[in-house]
Amino acid sequence: MKDDILLTPGPTPLPPQVREALGQPIMHHRTKPFRALFQKTLQGMRTAFQTAQPVFCLTGSGTGAMETAVVNLLSPGDEAVVVLGGKFAERWQELCQAYGVTVATVPVAYGDAVDPRQVAQALKSHPKAKAVFTTLLETSTGVVNDIQAIAALTRNSPAVLVVDAISGLLSEPCQTDAWGVDMVVTGSQKGLMLPPGLAFLSAGPRVWPLIEASKSPRYYYDLRLYKKALADDDTPFTAGVSLVMALDAALQLILKEGVPQMIQRCERMAKATRAAMQALGLELFAKRPGNGVTAVKVPDGVDGKKLTALMYERSRVMIAGGQGQMAGKIFRFAHMGFISPQDILVGLDALEQALAELGRPVQAGAARKAAEAVLARGSGLGAGGNCPAPTALSPEPFSGRR
Ligand SMILES: *Cc1c(COP(=O)(O)O)cnc(C)c1O
Repeated sequence: MKDDILLTPGPTPLPPQVREALGQPIMHHRTKPFRALFQKTLQGMRTAFQTAQPVFCLTGSGTGAMETAVVNLLSPGDEAVVVLGGKFAERWQELCQAYGVTVATVPVAYGDAVDPRQVAQALKSHPKAKAVFTTLLETSTGVVNDIQAIAALTRNSPAVLVVDAISGLLSEPCQTDAWGVDMVVTGSQKGLMLPPGLAFLSAGPRVWPLIEASKSPRYYYDLRLYKKALADDDTPFTAGVSLVMALDAALQLILKEGVPQMIQRCERMAKATRAAMQALGLELFAKRPGNGVTAVKVPDGVDGKKLTALMYERSRVMIAGGQGQMAGKIFRFAHMGFISPQDILVGLDALEQALAELGRPVQAGAARKAAEAVLARGSGLGAGGNCPAPTALSPEPFSGRR
């Protein structure tokens, strides 16, 4: 059976080294070798998070880390500012509400990025707010927010800043310490090139008084337990041993390619994808598009759900449609993690074919040509990803990708 070509913003394709690590014999988590491995991977995660502060590893999907942030930082009746603008931004609001936190929302239209001045205004109108929750890359709309500007505001306010970088980490710049972000959360199945199952969160010095004071119900995700265990390079509950072993393999690739280089690769793929959409006469959805995912409006007269289904049926290329109220109205191409420029080109071919089949005239090869022109400005098309690199197009492989 042919492998699926995943161009989705999670799960993303797994590098062979990660797949190999997942097939290794299990080790026991309360052993010296595991503790050494755990310590090493968390050190690597600090580089990925661009922080010198501790990074915690949880077993769960990314939302588990989001819930961890809410229950540890806030008590029922506390006030928090939540920046809206997409399905994942709304998750912060839902989580806060689930735990009885009073939410002041900063409204942002789907497709827009937040204007940092709106956050300043919200902090002024809600001086008792203990936290601001926002999203680096809003995966549902393809928008990247200006976290640096938001952090410049929260740094001098009593509120801590919590950023969902579940899809943004390793595709968008995320300078946790340099920008002054108090807590960053991520998950394993996006830029980290792992299966789903691990979640991570960084904790700066300003969060600990809140964590100590929180009266929210918490047990599995009580960060005080994780902090205590971390002193011994340990976890309070059974660690996701095989996933941690795979994380070690993924981090070796990430550190070899380099965090800034990995982000640049995503940026180049995003630019190539945007150029291809323009060549097809399609309109982008995000007004401030990120590097990790490109959201495109489904053209009039085309059924968006049929489009993504047809791409899969004909070419085994899996892209993402729209979520919630955006279902059928947009489609999304991811360019993060192990997705390679070559994969993007294969995806664009599949898109052209499906559009043509659904009655939208396209100039065959136009998308690929526009994308290749952008990619040619960077280094080679590279190996790895879902698809083997075509030899004619591959002058040099990406470092860290074999
Ligand atoms: C994927 C994603 C999530 C949800 O993560 P899960 O691992 O599915 O829990 C949250 N926020 C953003 C921005 C995401 O991209």
